[in-house]
Amino acid sequence: MELINQRIKNSQPIIKQLSEAAANRIAAGEVVERPSSAIKELVENSVDAGASRIDISYSDGGKTLIVVKDDGHGIAENQLQLALSRHATSKIDGSDLLNINTFGFRGEALPSMGAVGRLTITSRIKNVTMGSKITVNGGLINKIRPAPSTIGTVVELRDLFHATPARLKFLRTDRSESGAISDVVKRLAMAEPFIGFTLRDVTSGGEGRIIFRADPETGDLFDAMHGRLTKILGVDFSKNCFRIEAEREGISLTGYASLPTYSRGSSIFQYVFVNGRPVKDKNLLSALRAAYSDFLPNGRYPVVALFVECDFERVDVNVHPAKAEVRFREPGIVRGLVVSGLRHALAEEGHRSSSTIADATLGSFKKFESSHDKENYQMNYSRSGSISKPNIDQVGFLELQNDFSARNQSEEVFDELISNKLGAARAQVHENYILSQTSDGIIIVDQHAAHERLVYERLKKQMSLNGVSSQTLLIPEIIELSEQDSALLMEISVELDRFGLGIENFGGSSIIVRETPAILGEVNSKNLILDILDELKETSHTNLVKEKLDAILSRIACHGSIRSGRIMRAEEMNALLREMEVTPHSGQCNHGRPTYVELKLSDIEKLFGRT
Ligand code: ADP
Ligand code: MG
Repeated sequence: MELINQRIKNSQPIIKQLSEAAANRIAAGEVVERPSSAIKELVENSVDAGASRIDISYSDGGKTLIVVKDDGHGIAENQLQLALSRHATSKIDGSDLLNINTFGFRGEALPSMGAVGRLTITSRIKNVTMGSKITVNGGLINKIRPAPSTIGTVVELRDLFHATPARLKFLRTDRSESGAISDVVKRLAMAEPFIGFTLRDVTSGGEGRIIFRADPETGDLFDAMHGRLTKILGVDFSKNCFRIEAEREGISLTGYASLPTYSRGSSIFQYVFVNGRPVKDKNLLSALRAAYSDFLPNGRYPVVALFVECDFERVDVNVHPAKAEVRFREPGIVRGLVVSGLRHALAEEGHRSSSTIADATLGSFKKFESSHDKENYQMNYSRSGSISKPNIDQVGFLELQNDFSARNQSEEVFDELISNKLGAARAQVHENYILSQTSDGIIIVDQHAAHERLVYERLKKQMSLNGVSSQTLLIPEIIELSEQDSALLMEISVELDRFGLGIENFGGSSIIVRETPAILGEVNSKNLILDILDELKETSHTNLVKEKLDAILSRIACHGSIRSGRIMRAEEMNALLREMEVTPHSGQCNHGRPTYVELKLSDIEKLFGRT
C-alpha cells in the first residue's frame, strides 16, 4: 500500500487510450472466465443462430481446445470480420436495451476469445457453395480464406489464455474444468429440449469420449421438457417430479419439481431459467425455499427445473457480464408466482410419496432372496397360496401388537374400506406401522409421521380462521430459561398466543405457561417451549416472519401427534387412513419424509418370482 501511494505521488499520471487488443483482454476477464464460460458463450451463439444440433468437443478440460459446431444460419463472408470486433452484434441495434430476446447482445464474446486465445471461425450461409474462415490470434486478425464447410458455423478456440498467462494460473485441474463444462452444457440443454446436443472429450484424439448426448426431443413443450430432464436428471427424478404450470399478471412459470420425499442435501440441483437463460437468482431461490418450507427441514433441497417467461421489457438481463443474474421490474409478482405456483402443485401432489422409497424397499427384499438357498426358496414359493384374497389368518404370522379387531369387521365393511385409496387397516406392527390392504396392493403407514402432518394441517386451518383454540392449564407451569432465550420467546409472545400458547414473563428470566393449544391435549409444556426455542434458533437465518411461524407451528404439531409405540385399535387406524385421504400433503410428514409406502400386488408378485 505504501509503495503504491509513493509511486502515484512521485510521477504525474498520464491518461492513455487503451488499444483495442488490451480492451478486449480486459473484457475477456469478465465474459470468459474459464473454458466453461467460453463454451457457454459459443453454445448460446449457436442457439441464437437457430441451430437444431450443437456438437461440442474439448481437450484437457478445454484449456487447449474447444470446438463448437452448429447447423444454424451461419455468418456471411462479408460479416466475418465484424463478428470479431468489439460491440458488434447482429442481435440488437442498441436503441432498446430492455427488449432483448436473444442470449447474446453485448457483441463481446468472440472478440474477447480472440484476444485471449487462437480463434478460428468457419462458417457457411444458405445459397452459397463455399464457406469461409477467419483466424484471430492474440487479438491479431488474419485474412479471410475460403473453406469447405456445411451450412452453419464451427468455432474453434485453441490455447485459451495463452496470451494472458496470469489468467491461465487461475484455471483448475482438467477434471474440475471438465466438470464445469458438462454442467454448463447440461444447463443449456435443459432449456432447449428441441435442440440436439453432444459433448465430447477429445483429449486422447479420434472421435473422443462422449460425455453427454441428448437427441432433439419431440412432442409438446411439456413432453419435450420431461424427456430432456429425464436424460439430464435421471429416471428417479422423472418418476418423482410433478409438473408446474402457473401464471400471474402475464408472467408464466413452467417446469418440473421433485416431491418433498425426493430431496437433496445441496441446492446444486436447482435449475432456474428466465426467458430460457440459466440464472442463479437469489430472489427466485429464496421463493423456492419458501414454497417448500412446510415440507422440508433446513438443509434439504428439492430438485427443480423452473422456467420463468415474461415480456423481455419486464426483466433486465444486462446486470451481469456473464448474464448469470437478472433483475425483475416487479420482483414481488415473480416471488408470489413461484411460491403459489409450487404450493398449488404440491397440494395436488400431496398424496404421492416418492417411488424411490418403494423401489428401495423392493430392492432390500431382493437381497433377502439372494441370501437364501435358491432351491429351498423355490420350493417354498411353489407351495405358497394365493395372496390376493383377504384372509385374516394369513397375516396371523405378523407380530400383532393389538387386539386385532378386523375379525369384528364384516365382509361388507371390509369391501367398502378396501376400496378407499389407503385401503383397510389390517394390523399394527412394531407399535408404529399400520399395515393396510388396498384393492391392488398393501400400504405401510408410519403412524407418527402421518399423524404429525394431520395435526399440522389442522393447526394451519385453525390459524387461517380465528387462531388456534387454547386450553387453560389448571396449574400454570413456570419454566426457567436463560435471559437470552426468554427474551427470544417474549419477542413472539403475541404470535404464540394466536397459536394457542399463552406465555408471560415471570420475573427474571423465567416464563409462565398459562395456556396450551387445545388440539395437543395433555402436553409437556416445558418440552414444547424448548422445542420452539430450538426452532427459533434454527430459523434465525430467515427474516421472513411467515417462514419462522410456519416452522414453529410444525414443531407444535409434533407434540400433538400419536407417538410411535402407541397401540391403536382398528377403528382408530381406519379413521387415521380416512383423514389422510382428505388432508392435503398427507403423503409427507412435516420434514419431507414419506408418511406411507405403497407396494403394488404386481411388485409383491415380482418378489416371489410369480411374474
Ligand atoms: P453477441 O452474441 O453478443 O452478438 P458475439 O461476439 O458472441 O456477440 O457474436 C457476434 C456476432 O457474430 C453475433 O451477433 C452473430 O451475428 C455472429 N455469430 C456468432 N456466433 C455465431 C454462430 N454460431 N452462428 C451464426 N452467427 C454467429
Ligand atoms: Mg454471443
